[in-house]
Parts: sequence; C-alpha cells; structure tokens
Amino acid sequence: MDFAIGIIGGGPAGMSAAIYAARAGRSAAIFEGAACGGQMLLAHEIENYPGVSKAAGYALADQMMEQVRTLGVSTVYGSVTSVAKQDGAFTIQCGKKSYTVGAVIVASGTDRRTLGVPGEAEFLGRGVSYCAVCDGRFFTGKDVAVVGGGNTALGDALYLANICKSVTLIHRRDAFRADRILVDRLAGVSNVQTVMNARVKSIEGDAKVQSLEIVSTAQGGVSSPMVLHTDAVFVAVGSIPKLDFLSEMDGIACDDGGYITTDDRCRTDVPGLFAAGDVRSKMLRQIATAVSDGAIAGTEAVEYLDGLSE
Ligand code: NAP
Repeated sequence: MDFAIGIIGGGPAGMSAAIYAARAGRSAAIFEGAACGGQMLLAHEIENYPGVSKAAGYALADQMMEQVRTLGVSTVYGSVTSVAKQDGAFTIQCGKKSYTVGAVIVASGTDRRTLGVPGEAEFLGRGVSYCAVCDGRFFTGKDVAVVGGGNTALGDALYLANICKSVTLIHRRDAFRADRILVDRLAGVSNVQTVMNARVKSIEGDAKVQSLEIVSTAQGGVSSPMVLHTDAVFVAVGSIPKLDFLSEMDGIACDDGGYITTDDRCRTDVPGLFAAGDVRSKMLRQIATAVSDGAIAGTEAVEYLDGLSE
C-alpha cells in the first residue's frame, strides 16, 4: 500500500481532508494537477471565510498548504486518469505511475463552464478568459465584458472595475443569483453597466476580440441583436464537476448536473470512496462548506479503514 488515503484534488476540501486524515495517524497523499488551492487561487479577495476578514485567495491557499505540509501529508503532482477498486484496495493512476491506497476521497472540484458560442474557442487567450484575476491586468484601462450572474461574475466585475476603463456585465435573466452584498456593492460602481435579459450570441474579432453580438432572452431585454465593442470577455457562467477519471468505475451515483451524490457522511455508493467539496451534490459551494466536507470525508475515511482492520 502506498498511502492509507488518496485524496484527489488539492483545493480546500482536499486539504481539509488531508489534515483530518493525518491528525488521525493515517498516511495521506494529495494528488494535484497543478498548484494546491483550487478555485481559491482564482479569487481576488475572500471575505466570507470565518476568521479571515479579508485575504487574497492565494494567501489563504498557501496558509492551508503550509498546515498540510507540516502534518507530513505527501503531494503527488500530475493528472489522475483513473481510479479502480480491486480486492478491497484502490488503484489511482496518476501520469505514468499507479498508486495503491486503502480509501479514496474525491475532491477534484469543478471546471469552468463555457458559453459554447462561435468565437469563444477561437479567441481563447486573445480576449476570451475564464479568470479575471489571472488575465484582468492585460486589459488595464480597456473596455471589458463579463458574462454571468453568480458570485464569480459579480466578483470578477468588481475586480475588473478597479483596473479597466469600463465593465459591461451581461446576464441572461432579470435578477442576479450572486450574494446580496455583491449586488449592492456593484450598484455603487460608476464604470460598471449591466445588460440584463441578454446572452452572447457570438464573439467577433480579428487578431483579438473586438465585439460581442448580444441578443435578448426576454421581452424587455436588449433590442436585438446588439453589438457591444469590447477588448475582452470574461466568462463566469458556473462550473461542471471534474470526474473524467471515474468513468470506468461502476456504482457511483450522480445528480442531474453530474455531481457525486453522497450521504451526509460524504460516503458514495462505493465503500471506501468518499466525495468532498464542489464535486459533491449540494446546496452551497463555498470554501467553508468545502472544508467542512473535507473534515467529514477525512474522518470517515479513517473510520472506514479502522473498520477493515478490526
Ligand atoms: P453559479 O453560481 O452557478 O452562477 C452561474 C451564473 O452563470 C448564473 O447566473 C447563471 O445564470 C449563468 N449561466 C449559466 N449558464 C449560462 C449560459 N450558458 N449562458 C449565460 N449565463 C449562464 O456559478 P459561480 O458564480 O461560478 O459560482 C459557483 C459556486 O461558487 C457558487 O456556489 C458560488 O456561490 C460559489 N462562489 C462563491 C464566492 C464567494 O462567496 N465569494 C465566489 C465565487 C463563487 P442563471 O442565474 O440564470 O442560472
């Protein structure tokens, strides 16, 4: 056995699971494709994690990772391509190597959803971005657009308003689903305009993005089609679970959105396989709920292994 517990994903859920597993005396490894931190690394500011009034996402991620390292948790960097269960143990394939573990915690998070419109793939990196914090600086003093109506979109719009000349926020409905505090904050920002009841039909340009074709989604929306001249478009329309590596594994139930369903102890239908964080079917996807899942999954994984050895 390489590790008692294999944790797939180094976001807040995975790091929390590692802390609980390690403190219970079990060897644990986090399998992570890039840097640990998950979506936190894309967050400009985090203000709703208890005990931390305001922090840059990467700073909070660093702090969590430091705690994980101190506890002796291993980190395996690489892409997990499959997980299989045989004779009571799990095999995690990561890059060219495979690892045997006693229990698995899936904390692989989500990928950004795309709009699926013409021009989106073509102009990726040339004005189309899925990360305002990563790419916003390239558009300092320029006109940009953000698409979406959730916490990410409004957070991105607020962040970009500080560095760009103007921000146009395009949302398909007449109300935002983002937290009230962000909606109120946005209302007070003079260089942000909102285009409600509208969707992007296509992204146009030459070498780089130059404009968006916007059409109405409801009566009273924009008079369609409308052309919005913009230097960039930041797409923030939600996420989809990252679970490709489980495709060969039978018996894992998912909800309609493809998120893993578990009981309230983060147990999936496969004994020894747990799910934690954004990848799990649940109401609220926050750092606070991710670390809560991680604590539960880490504890349950230890209990599962203890049960096997009794
Ligand atoms: P989200 O809450 O799922 O919001 C996605 C937004 O995109 C919705 O407004 C949705 O419209 C819109 N949308 C979806 N598909 C679309 C399409 N094809 N075309 C146009 N618009 C589309 O996603 P999120 O904002 O990325 O947030 C994900 C999770 O992380 C949430 O649970 C969120 O609360 C959390 N989060 C929290 C914070 C924070 O607390 N500071 C920050 C970021 C994210 P409809 O509203 O019409 O469905």
